[in-house]
Amino acid sequence: MQRVAFIGLGRMGHGMAGRYLDAGFTVAVWNRSKAKAEDLVARGARWSTSPEDAAIDADAVVTMVADDEASRAVWLGQNGAAATMKAGTLAIECSTVSYDHALHLSRELHARSIVYIDCPVTGLPDAAASGKLTLLVGANAADLEKARPFLNPLATTIRHFGEVGSGTVYKLINNLMGAIQIAGIAEGLAIAEQAGLDMKLVLEAVESGVAASPQVIRHSKRMAARNFEGATFTAALRHKDAAYAVELAERLLSSAPIMGRAAVAAYDRARAVAPDDDEGKMIEIVSRPK
Ligand code: NAP
Repeated sequence: MQRVAFIGLGRMGHGMAGRYLDAGFTVAVWNRSKAKAEDLVARGARWSTSPEDAAIDADAVVTMVADDEASRAVWLGQNGAAATMKAGTLAIECSTVSYDHALHLSRELHARSIVYIDCPVTGLPDAAASGKLTLLVGANAADLEKARPFLNPLATTIRHFGEVGSGTVYKLINNLMGAIQIAGIAEGLAIAEQAGLDMKLVLEAVESGVAASPQVIRHSKRMAARNFEGATFTAALRHKDAAYAVELAERLLSSAPIMGRAAVAAYDRARAVAPDDDEGKMIEIVSRPK
């Protein structure tokens, strides 16, 4: 039976770890706060005292944590997974991290003869829990083939962009475009409200118009209703992704205006007010106080 260590049991990781249990893998889990592991342990996962403990004897270690800092801690920190992983073990980083961090982590793990797969994802927590994610892979082709048995339980689509780091580049541009778009919907709807338009009509027109996208359709009604229940993606995570992407924009683009900077500034404000709230609260940031 294949053995997987799963680290990071937040909104996304909890469901992903459950997919391995459903698929019959032997699963060890670790999360910074233990309570999120309890139902997985009841379903047969082994609770581990550290990422290092989880990784003992694993064929693959999969991580889904918040950001660079968390990723560094669980792989390379004290009692990190890398301390115990054997040569040839797979390291699958699904968290959205910065490009520089993905390359640094890859180098550090490669130096220990660990096989690194750059594997950020798209899809919301319900897709994570039902194995319907899209995986955005950057990896050597032979390494990807070796990793497929550990990727298949998570995903309906695996997109291989090229070598390590390329999956992260795509993920960051995807989420930067999302950040700009969501901030844009908030601004547009707020203008319509201030101008006294019939918001029911505005929403109908937005959803069927050329500016509509799955993202616009998902957020516009909730924003107009100020319904931020059941946050799937938080202001802090959106800010983080946009900021990582702007680092790339500043390196790769001309000095022309980088639109992402405005989105980063807007999400910085949202993060300062309510980091763990739904990213759609952007409409409250851009609206004039009543
Ligand atoms: P989340 O619910 O906030 O979970 C974050 C996870 O990271 C938790 O397990 C948390 O542990 C852990 N963590 C944070 N800081 C840590 C540290 N310093 N050391 C160790 N562990 C730490 O976030 P999420 O929505 O699951 O997102 C996880 C990753 O997936 C992020 O990189 C995000 O950008 C990406 N992503 C999210 C979505 C989405 O729709 N939510 C979609 C695609 C990709 P605790 O439980 O102890 O806090």
